Amino acid sequence: SKRTGKNQIKEFEDESKHQILRTVEIEKALAQALDRNEFSLVYQPKVSLTQNRLEGVEALLRWNNRELGHVSPTDFIPIAENTGLIHPIGNWVMRESCRAWVRWNKSGVKPFTLSVNVSPLQFAREDFVESLQAILDETGMDPMFLELEVTESSMLSYEESTREKLTQLHQFGILISLDDFGTGYSSFRQLRELPVQVLKIDRSFIVNLFTDRNQEAIVRSMIQLGHNLGMKVLMEGVETSDQLEWLLNEQCDYVQGYYFSRPLLEKDVVKHVKSVTTY
Ligand code: C2E
Ligand code: CA
Ligand code: CA
Ligand code: CA
Repeated sequence: SKRTGKNQIKEFEDESKHQILRTVEIEKALAQALDRNEFSLVYQPKVSLTQNRLEGVEALLRWNNRELGHVSPTDFIPIAENTGLIHPIGNWVMRESCRAWVRWNKSGVKPFTLSVNVSPLQFAREDFVESLQAILDETGMDPMFLELEVTESSMLSYEESTREKLTQLHQFGILISLDDFGTGYSSFRQLRELPVQVLKIDRSFIVNLFTDRNQEAIVRSMIQLGHNLGMKVLMEGVETSDQLEWLLNEQCDYVQGYYFSRPLLEKDVVKHVKSVTTY
């Protein structure tokens, strides 16, 4: 009826007003979050299926604000990008996670890879490689064990400068993985030309693996595409043994997900590494 229609509009207006207010609140709080020490990092294991061992960990940012509580990176990263705060925050993530890696390394475990998410805006900056180099020097992080997770949109403006940066990073021994693969717009031609070593298939592709008949064919093709281009393939968001078995059968190289481990605190990473001899 007309009445419920009006109520729905009202609800919708309340909802979007609420959204805008929340964005403004996040924006204000985010500007002070670094100074107030409100960020922390957790680390999610990556498992190599071919070698049946821990391949590395991915650093994931956490934000806990007194008024807002825990805010998801899905909510605040876009705001950090819009406000330019992504640059100091991104540098903080890089520095802190490299420091953690150096501490793990000193504890005597076999070194594993540290993966760090890099926003397209960070990557686009002219001084990106330079400031990364400064952090590596400062922390003592071994670039041979560093992997950058970049999204397709970082690569989309496939200019000479992008190629130069990737070549420089490659020369340092840094790995590049293409995050959220399948959700962007890379053409086959671009993919072929990209100097990336790992395709990271977005979690959305595994969610309906066994419910949608075409999904298996799609994911299988993505794995084969990666392999045909000489890349390794990682599937994220693996939650069940059925999914794992299917991926083993399709010769997926690496997996990550709650089935193996949720993101861990820094202090629990070494414990985890020592406790898993085999998955
Ligand atoms: P992402 O890079 O695709 O990271 C994977 C997300 O999936 C993480 O969420 C992780 O906790 C979650 N996840 C992992 N395994 C499973 C699973 O088995 N099931 C389910 N349901 N979820 C799983 P998180 O930590 O909330 O991060 C969300 C996104 O925020 C990340 O997506 C990434 O795009 C961004 N992000 C996180 N940390 C950083 C950072 O330091 N810098 C930048 N630029 N972006 C970050
Ligand atoms: Ca990632
Ligand atoms: Ca991802
Ligand atoms: Ca994702």
